[in-house]
Amino acid sequence: KVRVRFAPSPTGGLHLGGVRTVLFNYLFAKKHGGDFVLRIEDTDQSRYVEGAEQYILDCLQWCGLTPDESPVVGGPFAPYRQSERKSLYREYAEKLVREGHAYYAFDTTEELEQNRREIPNFQYGQAYRSGLRNSLSLTEHEVDQLLNAHTPHVIRIKMPADERVSFNDMIRGHVSFETNTVDDKVLLKADGMPTYHLAVVVDDYLMKITHALRGEEWLPSAPVHLLLWEYLGWKADMPQWAHLPLILKPDGHGKLSKRDGARLGFPVYAMNWFDAKTGELTPGFRELGFLPEAFLNLLATLGWNDGTDQEIFTMDELIEKFSIDRVSKAGAKFDFEKAKWFNAEWIKKVKGERLKAIVKEVLEEKGIVVTDDEYLLQIIDKVKDRCVLLPDFYQQSGYFFEQPKAYDINSVKPKWTDAKTDFFNTFITTVTTTAVFEPVELEAAFKALAEEKGIKPGELMLPFRIMLVGGKFGPHVFDIAVLLGREETVERIEKALA
Ligand code: GLU
Repeated sequence: KVRVRFAPSPTGGLHLGGVRTVLFNYLFAKKHGGDFVLRIEDTDQSRYVEGAEQYILDCLQWCGLTPDESPVVGGPFAPYRQSERKSLYREYAEKLVREGHAYYAFDTTEELEQNRREIPNFQYGQAYRSGLRNSLSLTEHEVDQLLNAHTPHVIRIKMPADERVSFNDMIRGHVSFETNTVDDKVLLKADGMPTYHLAVVVDDYLMKITHALRGEEWLPSAPVHLLLWEYLGWKADMPQWAHLPLILKPDGHGKLSKRDGARLGFPVYAMNWFDAKTGELTPGFRELGFLPEAFLNLLATLGWNDGTDQEIFTMDELIEKFSIDRVSKAGAKFDFEKAKWFNAEWIKKVKGERLKAIVKEVLEEKGIVVTDDEYLLQIIDKVKDRCVLLPDFYQQSGYFFEQPKAYDINSVKPKWTDAKTDFFNTFITTVTTTAVFEPVELEAAFKALAEEKGIKPGELMLPFRIMLVGGKFGPHVFDIAVLLGREETVERIEKALA
């Protein structure tokens, strides 16, 4: 059975690239009838950020990418938080030491820092290792003594010399690395916590992960992981890896970073991220007014297409059509204008009932209480084509609930005249007395009256709109009048003429 995982470290907000990783894993799992596991990789306590795990859970919930197994719902391989699995990693690190694939290293922080300062391109690798006080240069007896004396130490992988390790990436094909270029990564830290490298391999194995889709930035770690799978004797169970293409800045130059968002004025986080340390609030797609459907749809197209021109996909379609074969190796440019286009399309596409709840909230935040759901549904139907982000619903439909605060009928050229006042005074009677108060009939009556008064209807239409809306926007003006109803329409004309 296919089993994939999303394995975030709770170190901050979830970047759109992170959600895309979730999405691709999710799609792959669902397409193959598999399971999607959420595992929290919180072994680096120095980078742990309070609230980040909850934030990740909330993001997944907002997006509807529900894990089948997670720290919250549990599952057959619980616990799903690495800090709660701490005790089980050491045995694997020690097994590696016993079998000669890893070693105790007793370097002090000062020694390491000095090396980093003094040795250009310092890496704790092959050439360097022999000169150190570690289990390779120490006798077994000396190592035992140091361990017995509780000397602080880590366990490092022993990268073999002059080897080439390779694997088949589902996206990149054959990928290989020279072992000499990879340093002896720490596997178990002085505090007994595993590092990411050890924990990810042990847990992918124990949790029976079959496919691991992750960001391209993890590719350099692959040789370490490959060797660990091999040394631990698990090679046959190693998941198939796919390293997803980077998400690039809008101009295509380099990886999109959270600073680009601030600099260029668009969100990069799924939801607002509040950094308690800096007191900084970084805006998110959710709060800016994206529908999760649109957010996921746009993420799906960052590095994937179905081979046709289709751009709008429902979740079911994505699950059906997604395939790793069509994920590109090349980075995908993020284009915020395009992102907004996806949202506008989804606003048109989602069912009124779903929008209703959302628009209600948007309006309530502005102090408008909606009591008539049927009325709101009719309004949404008329204005949704004009909304790009969800808060646009306030501007586009607020006037159905609140009378315009200011009118500037004189801003309409040509100038206001008494004849126009006369027209509207008569039109008030039409509105009140006409037998059929429907858009088509009302428009016909409006035009007939204009002709009777010798004024071009075109010169009256915009003022009428401004009276009802307070601005030069909105759907067909007679649709607006009918939705507002006779009484309200009359009241607004009167107020404007007063
Ligand atoms: N904990 C890693 C991260 O924060 C997971 C990388 C992987 O998927 O192997 O992204």
